[in-house]
Amino acid sequence: MSESDTPVETLDPADWAAFRARAHAMLDAAVDRMEGGGEGPVWRMPTEALKAAFDVALPVEGLGAGAVDAQIAALLPFGVGNTHPRFFGWVHGSGTPSQLVAEMAASAMNANLGGREHGAIHVEKQVIRWCREIFGFPAEASGLIVSGTSMATIVALKAAREARLGVEARRQGIGAARLVGYTSALAHGCTDRAFDMLGLGSAALRRVPVDASGGMDLDALRVRIAEDRASGLEPFVIVGTAGSVDLGTFDDLDALADLAAQEGLWFHVDGAFGALAVLDPGLKPRVNGIERADSLAFDFHKWLHVTYDAGCVLIRDEAAHRQAFSDRPRYLKGAERGLAAGNPWPVDYGPELSRTFRALKVWAQLAEHGTARLGRMIAKNCRQASYLGDLVAADPALELLAPVTLNICCFRYRSEGDADALNDEIVIRLQEAGIAAPSTTTVEGMKAIRVNITNHRTRASDLDLLVEAVRRIGAEILAERAGG
Ligand SMILES: *Cc1c(COP(=O)(O)O)cnc(C)c1O
Repeated sequence: MSESDTPVETLDPADWAAFRARAHAMLDAAVDRMEGGGEGPVWRMPTEALKAAFDVALPVEGLGAGAVDAQIAALLPFGVGNTHPRFFGWVHGSGTPSQLVAEMAASAMNANLGGREHGAIHVEKQVIRWCREIFGFPAEASGLIVSGTSMATIVALKAAREARLGVEARRQGIGAARLVGYTSALAHGCTDRAFDMLGLGSAALRRVPVDASGGMDLDALRVRIAEDRASGLEPFVIVGTAGSVDLGTFDDLDALADLAAQEGLWFHVDGAFGALAVLDPGLKPRVNGIERADSLAFDFHKWLHVTYDAGCVLIRDEAAHRQAFSDRPRYLKGAERGLAAGNPWPVDYGPELSRTFRALKVWAQLAEHGTARLGRMIAKNCRQASYLGDLVAADPALELLAPVTLNICCFRYRSEGDADALNDEIVIRLQEAGIAAPSTTTVEGMKAIRVNITNHRTRASDLDLLVEAVRRIGAEILAERAGG
């Protein structure tokens, strides 16, 4: 027998018909999970059995398909709860069933989107072109699909750093440069992390107080920039917020763009979820000025309900973007023709060489539903947050802690005693009972029940049920305290 006739061991199934049946069974389990997603508790504690099943010895001999599939199927009910209509915690997107279809196809292709000339690359380019159009960025602007806004912020601020210091900073580090930047007191912590990771130090990010509208106080910002310049520091970036994570407030992006232009600073916008307000004609004016940003970071996995994870960075000046990342060694050199063509490659725009095919699920979401329908879901969530605000305002047991301006409602159960501990306990009991899953935050020193609605499945009746449960649990805890 010659070598070419010997059966070789591979990792493919020996019996493709059996594999097909196996894949169909898991598809059924996944669709059952999604179809019944609104039933049962919002969240279930991972059980001891579940944890034990994922705490076993390294399998030197494989467990086989049957055992693996059974374990995966058993895991399906133990999500964080964001696919349920009463998940209101943090800012989580809720996903759509169609995403499953795109993810299956992406897995079958197993594409690596670091570069080269193949179909998947053109899907990502299409998504970036659509995003430029959505946000009014110029046709020359570049972009990259990344894991989320945290990564998008690092990519954007690296481009900003090199735009200030020159590409030599990539070899030499930032040396004696004392770069500083500015963002709102309400801004998300991902910008602090980016400053840390870019070697600038998170203390170099100045937190500017907000005015009554929740936007950055422009006078305070001007003063801070002048003070920093006077003490020999080098301001290089203003980071505006479109949709603050606690309250959903917006900076005045047009005014920040003006100020950045006057001061010669890079203007970056964190629009993780709020930037998508651009898709609803009624909300669009809130993000006026976003089209003037030098860079924008936002997520597909929040208010566009793409499955985790998927975010995006757009950069107005393509050359500034590319010079911050492009450095392909000889074995990755591009070509005019063949598989190594298609320059520039995505690796020229970000830190990752191997990249997953996130673009397909993003493309599928935009292509199937269209921006008008996705925008209607966003507008609906904002109306629902106002509706909840009205329910709270009308209820003497409850107190609204901040005006509802977007999709977030912060309120609390009133109490003469320790209101902070009471409201913390209400939220924990709501989560543990699987009734609803809001999170908590602190508004002007007061513990708030924070309800964020980035959920296309939520109905008004879910909010009625939430308010009813908060009242009931609040009264229960007060009774326990009185009795205890
Ligand atoms: C969620 C969020 C982030 C972080 O985004 P990830 O996608 O989780 O990395 C940044 N900024 C704001 C305003 C957010 O809501």
